[in-house]
Amino acid sequence: MDFRFTEEEEAFRKEVREFLDRELPPDWPGIDPDQYHEDAFDHIHEVSREMQKKLAAKGWLGLTWPKRYGGQEAPLYKQMILEEEITYRGAPGYDAYQFIGGCGDIILEFGTEEQKQKYLPPMTRGEVKWATAMSEPNAGSDLASLQLRADLQGDYFILNGQKTWQSAAHRADFAPVYCRTDPEAYKHRGISVIIVDLKSPGITMRPLEMMTGLKAFCEVFYDNVKVPRENLLGELNGGWAIVMAALGHERTYGLQLILNIKRDLDLLVKYCKETTVNGEPLAKDPLIRNRLADMAIQVDVARTLGYKVNWQVLTGQSPVVTANQLKILGGEVTQRVARLGMQILGLYGQLGPVGGNWRQMDETKDKWARLGGRMKHLYLSTVCNTIAGGTTEVARNGLATMGLQLPREPKAKK
Ligand SMILES: Cc1cc2nc3c(=O)[nH]c(=O)nc-3n(C[C@H](O)[C@H](O)[C@H](O)COP(=O)(O)OP(=O)(O)OC[C@H]3O[C@@H](n4cnc5c(N)ncnc54)[C@H](O)[C@@H]3O)c2cc1C
Repeated sequence: MDFRFTEEEEAFRKEVREFLDRELPPDWPGIDPDQYHEDAFDHIHEVSREMQKKLAAKGWLGLTWPKRYGGQEAPLYKQMILEEEITYRGAPGYDAYQFIGGCGDIILEFGTEEQKQKYLPPMTRGEVKWATAMSEPNAGSDLASLQLRADLQGDYFILNGQKTWQSAAHRADFAPVYCRTDPEAYKHRGISVIIVDLKSPGITMRPLEMMTGLKAFCEVFYDNVKVPRENLLGELNGGWAIVMAALGHERTYGLQLILNIKRDLDLLVKYCKETTVNGEPLAKDPLIRNRLADMAIQVDVARTLGYKVNWQVLTGQSPVVTANQLKILGGEVTQRVARLGMQILGLYGQLGPVGGNWRQMDETKDKWARLGGRMKHLYLSTVCNTIAGGTTEVARNGLATMGLQLPREPKAKK
């Protein structure tokens, strides 16, 4: 077994690092500096759009897609390296999880030639944003219970219902919307996926505020929204196959979480080396050394699982069991690192910049906000890492069935 990257792959990693050094502001913190501002999401959105264009100019959006749709036909490992470097730096503009995996890859797999020509090249040019419209108030883990109706009337689908937790939908242009097209069929068999222009008449959105204060997702209401029949993705009532494929394409989400938290762990280690308490560097405290070492092991294990998932895909094996392990470990390790950070910083970890403005840190007023208030932010923002993209409880259930061949769990009583 060879864990090394080839010379070409290492050269590509170097190229990505140099690009990020050049294009990100020198003091880029890897999380949005305006997190706690009222208009924070507008700002992130603008920075993200700019970076998206720069990534597109490098040909790095849709890297593995065919050239005729604007891709580079690059091997999967190259995309993994790109995603590792981007997430380590917390750089915006490349949404592997939602944009590339959840939307682009399923169009590539299930779209008609016309749909591929229409939707993929603008994605690779960085001209559009996409959202994913699966979850509803009564359909999250049990996604097959979704109720948003799409009724075929002549050449149009008419959509009525509600989606929720739609990441960045209020900033997006399009979304694959998972709809019920046959209410009589067994629930998994009556679902279709329809590509919707999110500026269509009849769509209204209500942003939802996360515990970090960021309005990053929203509820989306569909009131007689008219969508051309040609926007159907895949087969009518064949949407469940697309659900499975979309979740499969998001399989390395855990690797991104881990690379992102690795940076925080590295910063925490640096902080412990540089900070002295009662005349002794924190880095000499046996308890702190042990806890940091423990986290480093977990980060490394999760990263290796991420590599294994990619290797399984490349060698034509099913990555489902490993991807579930990665999802669980990745999400939980981010929370453990954040908790450790808060413990090491003590009460100072709870402080953020005065006025909540990260980009105007005041040296005098904000001196007690250790690590710039980063751990406080992490502590709050990592909570969702064990929920988004399917909860870790449900992933554990999947592992019990698929990995350990245990019988399926009993159905919940109504
Ligand atoms: C940051 C974030 C971004 C998101 N972005 C999007 C998006 O862009 N688009 C989108 O469509 N959705 C999005 N979601 C929604 C996400 O997919 C759902 O939250 C997730 O699938 C869980 O569904 P739920 O919230 O309805 O929880 P529920 O399914 O109601 O679960 C509630 C609790 O019960 C547990 N539970 C449920 N069933 C079982 C079971 N069988 N065994 C054991 N425990 C169980 C769950 O683990 C959980 O703890 C996002 C969520 C988050 C947190």
